[in-house]
Amino acid sequence: MKAEVQKIQLPILEQKSISLQIKREDLLYPALSGNKYRKLKYNLLSAREQGHEQLLTFGGAYSNHIAATARAGKDNGIKTIGIIRGEELVSAWEQNPTLKKARQDGMQFKFVSRTTYRERHDPAFHARLRAEFGKYYLLPEGGTNELAIRGCEEILSDEDKEFNVVCCSVGTGGTLAGIVNSSWEHQLILGFPALAGDFLNKDIRKFTAGNNWELQQDYHFGGYARVNKELVLFINNFYSQTKIPLDPVYTGKMMFGILDLIRKDFFAAHTKILAIHTGGLQGIDGMNTKLKMKNLPLIEV
Ligand SMILES: *Cc1c(COP(=O)(O)O)cnc(C)c1O
Repeated sequence: MKAEVQKIQLPILEQKSISLQIKREDLLYPALSGNKYRKLKYNLLSAREQGHEQLLTFGGAYSNHIAATARAGKDNGIKTIGIIRGEELVSAWEQNPTLKKARQDGMQFKFVSRTTYRERHDPAFHARLRAEFGKYYLLPEGGTNELAIRGCEEILSDEDKEFNVVCCSVGTGGTLAGIVNSSWEHQLILGFPALAGDFLNKDIRKFTAGNNWELQQDYHFGGYARVNKELVLFINNFYSQTKIPLDPVYTGKMMFGILDLIRKDFFAAHTKILAIHTGGLQGIDGMNTKLKMKNLPLIEV
């Protein structure tokens, strides 16, 4: 499946003679939130091939991966179990739009403390989970594994060869790795991490042997799921100018970064940039609940 590519029109692009286009992966399978569809595709096939009847995965309360796994389970007739970070949610999850939707899509939850959540790679914890739930196909937190990267290799298609630069946002880096694997040598793949930390470069090198990529580390806005008024206003303004909705955790930060780099002449004139819209729009409701409590402007897309 190929997503539509749209040209973005903004005065700054004309002024700097830069072409910026956006690949709308978010429109491909909206219920699965863009790149999460790519990451789940071969895992679902593999789970079925191995005869599994349920998927188990891990995530935070607003996780796109949790939302996507629940929906993929529903659409493919396979049960889903979400191990969710935060014991306090046991009595509060119905106020959380992501979890409420995941539950409607049939996901069974187990809420665990932050300490227990840290054991998610520990075989002893998995032995306890298997005793509680029975046999399951394991999807790691964020959904990144070899099969997920293979799915993300299908984001770029032959027509995309014309671009000099391809941009995507980065959580675990699995999506970036897939894009690097299927990119052309003349292209630079720019990743915009949604979280702070130096570990990402090393992680990504585990997922791809390519080296035509780099990370822009200055656009995480203080860390994962952190937002401020400037970012919210940017997302709203971008939407009113282009009619393209961005999410506050990933794609909003990426697009803010791309336009800031353009303003700072990071790209030569006549550079052709392709930005990947990886989805994440399901997270806007949950973020707006938090913004309201902090008396910050809401995301209006
Ligand atoms: C999960 C997610 C990402 C990050 O993908 P990784 O493969 O973990 O780097 C980017 N954008 C959106 C919208 C996501 O939901």
